[in-house]
Amino acid sequence: MAGSKDLLVPDLGDFSDVEVIEVLVSPGDELQVDDSVIVLETDKASMDVPATDAGKVAAVHVSVGDKVSAGDAILAIEAAEESDDDKTVLMSQAEQQAAIAAAADEEESDKTRLMSPEDQQAAIAAAANVPEESPEADSSKSQSADLVVIGSGPGGYTAAFRAADLGMDVTLVERYPSLGGVCLNVGCIPSKALLHAAKVIDDAAAMAKHGIQFGVPRIDPAALGEWKNSVVGRLTGGLTQLAKQRKVTVVQATARFESANRLILDNGGTIEFKQCIIAAGSQSASLAGAPDDPRIIDSTGALELDPLPKRLLVIGGGIIGLEMACVYSSLGTSVSVIELTDSLMPGTDPDLVRPLQRIIGKQYERILLGTKVTSLRATVPGIEVRYDGDKESGTELYDRVLVSIGRSANGKRIDAHLAGVEVDDRGIIPVDRQMRTNVPNIFAIGDIVGDPMLAHKATHEAKVAAEVAAGEKSSFDARVIPSVAYTDPEIAWVGLTETDAKRDGIEYEKAQFPWAASGRALSLGRDEGMTKLLFDQASGQVLGGGIVGPNAGDLIAEVGLAIEMGADASDIGLTIHPHPTLSETVAFSAEAYEGTLTDLYIPRKK
Ligand SMILES: Cc1cc2nc3c(=O)[nH]c(=O)nc-3n(C[C@H](O)[C@H](O)[C@H](O)COP(=O)(O)OP(=O)(O)OC[C@H]3O[C@@H](n4cnc5c(N)ncnc54)[C@H](O)[C@@H]3O)c2cc1C
Repeated sequence: MAGSKDLLVPDLGDFSDVEVIEVLVSPGDELQVDDSVIVLETDKASMDVPATDAGKVAAVHVSVGDKVSAGDAILAIEAAEESDDDKTVLMSQAEQQAAIAAAADEEESDKTRLMSPEDQQAAIAAAANVPEESPEADSSKSQSADLVVIGSGPGGYTAAFRAADLGMDVTLVERYPSLGGVCLNVGCIPSKALLHAAKVIDDAAAMAKHGIQFGVPRIDPAALGEWKNSVVGRLTGGLTQLAKQRKVTVVQATARFESANRLILDNGGTIEFKQCIIAAGSQSASLAGAPDDPRIIDSTGALELDPLPKRLLVIGGGIIGLEMACVYSSLGTSVSVIELTDSLMPGTDPDLVRPLQRIIGKQYERILLGTKVTSLRATVPGIEVRYDGDKESGTELYDRVLVSIGRSANGKRIDAHLAGVEVDDRGIIPVDRQMRTNVPNIFAIGDIVGDPMLAHKATHEAKVAAEVAAGEKSSFDARVIPSVAYTDPEIAWVGLTETDAKRDGIEYEKAQFPWAASGRALSLGRDEGMTKLLFDQASGQVLGGGIVGPNAGDLIAEVGLAIEMGADASDIGLTIHPHPTLSETVAFSAEAYEGTLTDLYIPRKK
């Protein structure tokens, strides 16, 4: 131990005399950096105050109900000497990045930015001087748990936390040091941080024709990457804290089944379990025959921007590929997209895709549909890409190539067969509505149970599995699962789409509202959007909806609720929506169906 030190209330912005609503630590507790110590509440929000040093709590100076301001002492902490063994846990996000960079510098400087998550984790572990696979090898030997959860993505951590809240003794096994899975570490969250940065650039540029000119943005990809990593770090650190608060045992190791009651860990340990929830997720599908070259990347590599390529080819015009294309294009890279089928976002309602395609068609170097990439060859000046298309075939050189051709479930990577769990050819584990596999004490959730591979589906399934495991009568009864592409404009849909209705011969009626008639859309300088609702002909109930335009992803939630509640057009139209908002476009679509819309003239049909 190295002396005692006070932890002070941090800068609270405009607030002072803020109430302490929770004290999370007591004298004698061991703290890690970023562990929450107290919770403060202002009239706007509650906030956790994290520890800035690791060590043992010597004294706590505040109690619930106290009012504190920046600089007040919260507690005294006896700082711990940092041992090598602690380093992985204690390394800040910035230090982790430095470790990754240092490890990569030893090889090829280029690789720094293009390391796979596995390489990154290895670099962090190596820099911290701990065994790569598991710093907890000894402590995790021959454990047992009522419930073990494999994987800490949105499915896994939600299941673990819900089960713990229901009183179960839970162990969460995750192969990486950072909890949160693909979504938090290399998926939803970092991509949305970068998409936000891209939108700021685009919005600023769009104001040029309305009287405000900004200079050409000076982009520091390293700093942008640090900010993105800090967003990820806050969330993943929060998960570690939440696991601790719930007394969920977290084991860092790669797990495989040995039987229907026992996992074997790659650190030599084992876990006996009564019940298990498999939440081992999915991984990017790779392009057969592609050379092993750091300039050929998957979505994880694409989140590392530094250095920005001059020319990027995105293979695959699905949601993830197009989101990353948006980011790179706004940051100044010349982007091309090659898509095998004859439409972007295959399967999505073409009415929704059209406005996006119009916009990116002008921004990107090329968008080739109905085109197959036939070979990739690594050459010194770049990656040589051969393609063969309905309209065009040829060879082109790119600085970087993002392969974004889908994700494959990890079902075949956990020896599920040794537990008797069925896994199909695509690595997907079939489950029933209670998220049970064919083996009664083993559940599966999230990407590993198949499409749609979305975080919010995983979390919903997670709660069902945890509740069933805890003996509750739950089942996955959601009628619909929304989908969102966070491109610019955003595209979102939920429930029945016109494409599906036409394919399946489902009778429907539709109403739509063009955003060119929305005051809010015009005031944002964005009139390309559209909101569309589909209704059941007999009952008038909402069956589905699609929205394209800024914030479509937020707006679609109302349509999802309408479907779940069995709402009809008048339920939406007679709900007063605030003006001027984009949410009015949902109400206006419902009014268009009802024939009560006054903001447009639509001749009555009935
Ligand atoms: C770039 C990108 C952007 C995305 N954006 C969105 C979005 O905006 N919205 C959305 O809803 N979805 C998005 N997704 C999809 C989303 O990330 C996934 O649907 C979600 O993460 C699935 O959660 P999960 O819990 O099933 O699995 P995962 O998040 O994949 O987590 C699985 C975890 O299991 C661990 N694991 C695997 N095998 C083992 C083992 N044998 N032992 C121990 N641990 C193991 C893995 O390390 C991982 O941490 C995006 C994905 C990507 C790649």
